[in-house]
Amino acid sequence: MRKPAEGKNTVIIGSGVGGLSAGILLSLLGFRVTVVEKNAEPGGLMRSYSRRGIDCPVGVHYVGALGPSEPLGKMFRVLGIDPDSLFSRMKNRAVIDRYLFDDFVFDLPEGLDAYEKNLREACRADGAALDALMKGLRGTAGVMAASPFFFEGGSPFANMDSFRPMGELLCELGASSKLRAVLAAPCQLVGVELKDCPVIIHQMVLAGYLFSSWRPKSGRDLADAFAARFSQLGGRLRLSSAVRHIRTKQGRVAGVDLEEGDSLPADSVVAAVHPKVLIGLLDPEALRESQRERIAGLEETGGVLAVQAGVDAEAHPAVDYNLYRLRAGGSGEIENGFFCQVLKGDGRNTNLLSIITGSHYRDWLPWEDTLTRRRGEAYEQKKQALAEALVAESSAVFGPLKNLQLLDVFTPLSLRDHVSCPEGSCYGVLRSSRHLLKIASLGNLPIGGLYLAGQNAMAPGVMGCILGSLGVARKMAGNERFGKELERLL
Ligand SMILES: Cc1cc2nc3c(=O)[nH]c(=O)nc-3n(C[C@H](O)[C@H](O)[C@H](O)COP(=O)(O)OP(=O)(O)OC[C@H]3O[C@@H](n4cnc5c(N)ncnc54)[C@H](O)[C@@H]3O)c2cc1C
Repeated sequence: MRKPAEGKNTVIIGSGVGGLSAGILLSLLGFRVTVVEKNAEPGGLMRSYSRRGIDCPVGVHYVGALGPSEPLGKMFRVLGIDPDSLFSRMKNRAVIDRYLFDDFVFDLPEGLDAYEKNLREACRADGAALDALMKGLRGTAGVMAASPFFFEGGSPFANMDSFRPMGELLCELGASSKLRAVLAAPCQLVGVELKDCPVIIHQMVLAGYLFSSWRPKSGRDLADAFAARFSQLGGRLRLSSAVRHIRTKQGRVAGVDLEEGDSLPADSVVAAVHPKVLIGLLDPEALRESQRERIAGLEETGGVLAVQAGVDAEAHPAVDYNLYRLRAGGSGEIENGFFCQVLKGDGRNTNLLSIITGSHYRDWLPWEDTLTRRRGEAYEQKKQALAEALVAESSAVFGPLKNLQLLDVFTPLSLRDHVSCPEGSCYGVLRSSRHLLKIASLGNLPIGGLYLAGQNAMAPGVMGCILGSLGVARKMAGNERFGKELERLL
């Protein structure tokens, strides 16, 4: 273990993939780091939970680009975490995602060429639009593959065209509603509608999964591996300990006060939590009123209802692709639908059918002031009815479900209380083209030593969070040390 640098006490708030990856990188750079987590176990949304011996995923169902020479694989190498023990590569290269629309099926395969072939077959009238779209996608994939795009100072995507909305681009290219519907599906992974999704975000998400796709073996093991690596580097993890207040002095952070009463001094604080949680931790005068209002007014990505159900393992073997049952409107926008996976369950008789569908926070407002397990009978009944309807919809896809048993149902309120994401938003603040300017200010908080990490800093998802942590580590260590100390780990 290396000796920590002096005067570099850092507190990270939150132990999700954002907080723990920032903790690992800063420890590698010689900072003395404490991660404070309100929950009893580390990992935030990446951690799975167990029901009747079955591992149920929460917020990491699959990731892309984890191969050794691919972007996320390289990031894991820098972190010092072995992906092979934690993830399985999806084996059916011809189908990673199957999109089931009312009138057609589209398979997203591994690889840009295979994807282009499927797109051209499905959308024969879109030849010219596809020429332009594939050129853009290949360009972005090329930058992501080039060694190592995430170490470069400044954005390799500085071209403003990358931030225009997909809706505008597709309109200009005269894309058909079928092509729009197919392209809208990956937007579900970042919670932004296709028409407002910045071109670069769309391309990066899509390109990531086209490199290669991987499922975690267990979200619990994944979270524990991040926590173990952090501890191995000398980091301190304080669980069941919520930060209640960030102290500032003369425009700089000075430390944090914890719910249980004690305080931790800090030269820097990395808030790997939602920015609205962050402003609640600061004294009112720490930020200008206009800054506070801007953050408080940011729109959220949507919430979900998730159903975890046991099904007969023999009748319903694990399926090696993800299924999206989607209903598209006349101009190709996704109106509703669900995502599901059939995963290996308890290794004996039961497999897991894990289903997720969109759910508005406003539909759960009657229980807004209640806490998990104490929301009352009416809430339980509503959850049960929605879960049964969702299972019935999925049996239209899989056929009658044998030995079905509901294991768990979670709602936007469950996620809100579990990880403190306002309105149960899955992917944090809405990163649409319309909101980019408002969001940009989150990267430069006007308090010395205060940084934002996690899915709200740069982008959501495992790759987005680690990219955000690399950005924070660069800012804190400076370009030269960041390059020298971390690049050698590649
Ligand atoms: C249903 C769903 C499905 C998803 N599927 C995928 C997927 O398949 N692939 C993918 O890459 N991404 C997926 N995502 C996105 C991914 O899960 C997130 O982008 C990522 O896990 C967010 O990590 P984070 O560190 O930003 O936040 P979180 O994981 O939310 O961590 C924040 C942590 O901070 C803690 N905290 C909050 N307030 C305090 C406080 N005051 N003091 C101390 N601790 C505090 C919380 O308890 C939490 O542990 C999905 C998300 C959801 C919700």
